[in-house]
Amino acid sequence: MHSNNHRRSMVSKASLQELESHIRDVADFPKKGILFKDIMPLLSKNLYDTIDYMGDILPVDKIEAFAGIESRGFIFGTALALKYKKPFVPIRKKGKLPPPVHSETYQLEYGEDSLEMACKHDFKNILIVDDVIATGGTYLASKKLCEKAGLNVLGIAALINLKDLNQLKQSGDTVYHLFEY
Ligand code: AMP
Repeated sequence: MHSNNHRRSMVSKASLQELESHIRDVADFPKKGILFKDIMPLLSKNLYDTIDYMGDILPVDKIEAFAGIESRGFIFGTALALKYKKPFVPIRKKGKLPPPVHSETYQLEYGEDSLEMACKHDFKNILIVDDVIATGGTYLASKKLCEKAGLNVLGIAALINLKDLNQLKQSGDTVYHLFEY
């Protein structure tokens, strides 16, 4: 039997264009007017090269830990933590993590939502990870949570940045992304 590494070395790396072709646009999902970026086909086609490209654009030496935002941020955050042998911290929806936790409530288009994160960590510099950044509201709430826990946020890494929907570049937050629309 071949090891996975051996098998990978015989298969050439996909191009970014090829990876991008596996992101599916779904109009009016989950609500009318939203153009949903479906990343599930990409995960099933080539998660390995996607994580490789994401890692290539990150300041890996500065990153002490990865925080993933529930739930699709868990996929990319965990994969990056594994690749670089660094800790992974989940940022979860309210009521999922046992105490003690920090909590942050943020505004949605209609109503509000809350995210939570464990209080104590033995590292300082953390990178937040999600699949798609739209308004940036989820990231900014996650950043506040990390800051409440005494952490220094290095920015956000996401597969896709919907740049016209957020002002994160102007706000000074570093956005690492593979694809921008
Ligand atoms: P936001 O707080 O507006 O930046 O939204 C971020 C969260 O909503 C992310 O966790 C995304 O998974 C999800 N999301 C928002 N807009 C889209 C979209 N157009 N396609 C796919 N996911 C989206």
